[in-house]
Amino acid sequence: MSGFDFDLFVIGGGSGGVRAGRVAAKGGAKVALAEEDRYGGTCVIRGCVPKKLMVYASAFSESFEAAKGFGWTVGKSSFDFSELMGSINTELDRLEKLYLKGLQGNGVTTFDTRATVKDAHTVVLPDGKEITAETILVATGSRPFIPAVKGAEHVISSNEVFLWKALPKRILVVGGGYIACEFSGIFNGMGAEVTQFYRGAQILRGFDGEVRGHVAEEMVRKGVNLHVGTDVSFIEKKTDGLHVTCTDGSTHIVDAVIYATGRIANTDNMGLEEAGVKLGRKGEIEVDQYSQSSVPSIYAVGDVTDRVNLTPVAIREGVEFVETVFNGNPTAMNHENIATAVFTQPEIGTVGLGQEEAGGLYNIEIYRAAFRPMLNILAGTDERMLMKLIVEQNTRKVLGCHIVGPSAGEMIQMAAIAIKMGATKEDFDRTVAVHPTAAEELVTMKEPVA
Ligand code: FAD
Ligand code: NDP
Repeated sequence: MSGFDFDLFVIGGGSGGVRAGRVAAKGGAKVALAEEDRYGGTCVIRGCVPKKLMVYASAFSESFEAAKGFGWTVGKSSFDFSELMGSINTELDRLEKLYLKGLQGNGVTTFDTRATVKDAHTVVLPDGKEITAETILVATGSRPFIPAVKGAEHVISSNEVFLWKALPKRILVVGGGYIACEFSGIFNGMGAEVTQFYRGAQILRGFDGEVRGHVAEEMVRKGVNLHVGTDVSFIEKKTDGLHVTCTDGSTHIVDAVIYATGRIANTDNMGLEEAGVKLGRKGEIEVDQYSQSSVPSIYAVGDVTDRVNLTPVAIREGVEFVETVFNGNPTAMNHENIATAVFTQPEIGTVGLGQEEAGGLYNIEIYRAAFRPMLNILAGTDERMLMKLIVEQNTRKVLGCHIVGPSAGEMIQMAAIAIKMGATKEDFDRTVAVHPTAAEELVTMKEPVA
């Protein structure tokens, strides 16, 4: 130790900060971590975990229907939102304790408070206490962004959804990204009347075009009133609900308006710029491939850097940071071919390039299978599954794999290993199918469709 109070001070006890702090301390570093809210951060408290539990809950309504096709008589079913939230909160309390235990059990000193940066080696707590550290890691995550629409005081973000005591009957979701599309499916499955507005021509910008179309079609078939090319003009609160007037002049009356219109980095009033840390256009911390900021002793990982805003990415960036700074083994974070799942209904699993993006860069072949999965035949639904491989013509490398349908998220994790290893289409072809599964289509697509 070199005259500092700590080797490492981590600001933020979410996915990235907790992992980095714990791993550094386990390796022998003297570590402190400050968290101003709840340990676990966005993912555990108001993101991935409660969201996925809500997805599970919302999918039962369809399962009860499907069961009839398999000989079951399902009694009258009903759904109690507050009971679900009670169970979810018990689970979140358990996880929060585990996160804290993981830190303290490895010797990390925790401060249950906000922390800001004073200079390259000093953080300040709200009571004025100054603490020095050889290295500071900023892992303060991000928060919802709500545009300045007239009537914005009547709208909520994803954060407040997790505090609801009851499920509103009529819900408007604004946005067409991950959160908006996932929430529309959740509320629809739980029985609410769901309307979704997206300002562009098709939801899920950035994903493969066919995937976007397929998911949008299925969401509508399941009951989501999806309006593309539509935005909110203004919102008024009246006795019968929130009156939302849209850009096309129509008015929708709903009980809740949720804006899922992106997120912004938590860098406000953090003392970062004053300390010399360069911020990007949207307030994100600019870092190099080792997550080092413009101040050599200050690093940043996770959503606050606005690179790829996913939990496993924040965690991996935290681990590579420790490897670089504390283990003498500089390790750049590799952001290529990160698989992701969108827990829409139907679910998306995707890794690598979409058709449009790949087509602009390489000569490509497209392999596609669209089919009714076995379960849906007896269940009596027309819902189809989509699988797509994007292959580079010359090298035969699989550049992208896209799956829409049940368990797509589970499947894509496996496909991502092959693609990260540089698998060719012929490697997929040489792999014997697992039967009867939906995933077998991935290794049995013989002829290109384009
Ligand atoms: P966070 O987890 O946000 O942690 C930052 C922490 O810092 C917070 O606890 C905050 O209270 C604390 N903090 C902030 N400022 C200070 C300060 N000055 N002093 C002290 N503490 C401070 N990702 C997936 O991979 N899969 C999913 O299914 C998924 N679903 C999501 C669903 C929703 C609704 C949302 C909002 C996000 C979802 N994400 C998902 C994204 C994922 O949650 C984030 O990418 C991830 O949590 C980022 O981790 P982080 O460590 O960068 O930040
Ligand atoms: P996204 O960036 O995914 O989507 C934001 C959406 O809001 C886009 O459709 C965007 O439209 C729209 N939008 C932005 N600004 C406005 C505006 N002023 N008026 C109207 N619409 C607007 O953000 P999310 O908030 O959905 O999620 C944040 C991030 O969290 C995700 O990108 C993802 O990284 C992570 N996440 C991951 C999940 C998972 O892994 N399953 C689940 C949930 C979140 P346009 O496309 O036209 O710009």
